[in-house]
Amino acid sequence: MNIYDKYEAVIGLEIHAQLATNSKAYASDSASFGDLPNTNISPITLGHPGTLPVLNKKNIEFAVKLGLALNSTIRKVNEFARKNYFYADLPKGYQITQDKTPICNGGYVTLFPNTEREKKINITRIHLEEDAGKSMHDQDPFNTLIDLNRAGVSLVEIVSEPEIKSSDEAYEYVTQIRKLVRYLEICDGNMEEGSLRCDANVSVMLKGSTTFGERTETKNMNSIRNVKRAIDFEIKRQIDLIEAGERVEMETRSFNAADGSTTLMRSKEEAHDYRYFPEPDLQPVLVEENYIAEVKKGLPLLPNELYKVYTNEYGLSEYDANLIIESKPLGLYYNELTQHTKNYKAASNWLNGSIKSYLNENGITIEDFVLKPIKIAALIQLIDEGKVSNTVASQHIFPIMINQPDIEPIAIAEQNNLIQESNDDDIINYIDIVIEQNPTEITRFKNGEKQLMGFLMGQLMKVSEGKADPKKANVLLREKLN
Ligand code: ADP
Ligand code: MG
Repeated sequence: MNIYDKYEAVIGLEIHAQLATNSKAYASDSASFGDLPNTNISPITLGHPGTLPVLNKKNIEFAVKLGLALNSTIRKVNEFARKNYFYADLPKGYQITQDKTPICNGGYVTLFPNTEREKKINITRIHLEEDAGKSMHDQDPFNTLIDLNRAGVSLVEIVSEPEIKSSDEAYEYVTQIRKLVRYLEICDGNMEEGSLRCDANVSVMLKGSTTFGERTETKNMNSIRNVKRAIDFEIKRQIDLIEAGERVEMETRSFNAADGSTTLMRSKEEAHDYRYFPEPDLQPVLVEENYIAEVKKGLPLLPNELYKVYTNEYGLSEYDANLIIESKPLGLYYNELTQHTKNYKAASNWLNGSIKSYLNENGITIEDFVLKPIKIAALIQLIDEGKVSNTVASQHIFPIMINQPDIEPIAIAEQNNLIQESNDDDIINYIDIVIEQNPTEITRFKNGEKQLMGFLMGQLMKVSEGKADPKKANVLLREKLN
């Protein structure tokens, strides 16, 4: 037995999501990303004596949205605390956070919904906090530079229970959270720019054991794929240590994207004692039932709900449903499309097929797509009524529609002589041409090479320029040849 098979992994994730508020958590400075360094730094952000923080109301709204979407319990009385430590990018010398009273408790993320692998991962808590500034080590050969624009920007931290068992599950968990914050429009979910950051707590233990092993916490993964790589590396590293008779130390490690390894950042001995105490400059915030109800009313359709409707009611495959809910604008487009056609499967095929190819080829998103869903629905109807074939629709009509978005597909089909011919006489005409043009194949077919039917049908479609109704043509061709 492979030594790695003797062990199982235990994983808990901490995700920091930067809230998409205009101003910071406790100051009115702009929270925008990418401004000139140190331009959004009021005396409050810099922690000058005598300044007072004021809570940004949006923080509460966004955290409540997230909590509701994750089925968490929302706390009524929210207090704030100071988490003290000394670091160059932390001008106040402390972060305002929530220590004992996180705004959300409990809730869960459903991994791989509607599949055999479906599994709930419980959320421990979600709390509000503020970001630190940014130390830049790669801008100057000798000095570390500090940009304090990010100091004080709103964050939520989402802490999971240690219930994730593999790097695949972790990948799915972060994917779900990212999709969710984007649907809720509370965070842009951009891991490269650091608006979504994930720390992975990993330990291993012998299979079936009930005592968790010592854990490490790995930081600095700038993509979901790198979260997975970091976890895979840690699991293997820890098993190798144990198998070599050594111990896993509780420590914080840093991920290196270049080779997928993790290296020691600081050990437990150096761990901070944050000396939390209640923030004296902020009053507790009361989150009332009617406020929660109000926020709940404003929640958009969520990806998992859409997924259920698409797979259970619309009969889409998991794969197709996932492609559609991947981004909110696509989901919205599809939803609108299904207001105009009941052929859900065709609607999904058009969106995931021709439309996405067009978007990719032109480097645009669905929001910039010129054709409104109702136009695509009209095209689907043409096909369903047998007026044009799928091929004619996608290869001829669709490209013309894109150039002339105001013209109805039926008009395009008529103007361009693309209406499918289901008239027997017309089709028989085409059949005669095919027979005349392919004497050898016809003889071979008659001598038993029945597989030539495909070739002959192909010729027929070609002769008819794609307009012959294929079902009818097939029947008539067989009749004629037999
Ligand atoms: P800390 O302040 O030490 O980071 P938190 O409570 O904020 O502690 O987060 C701990 C995270 O580590 C949680 O996501 C939790 O599920 C996870 N965790 C706790 N124990 C283990 C363990 N033995 N192995 C893996 N993950 C663990
Ligand atoms: Mg931690």
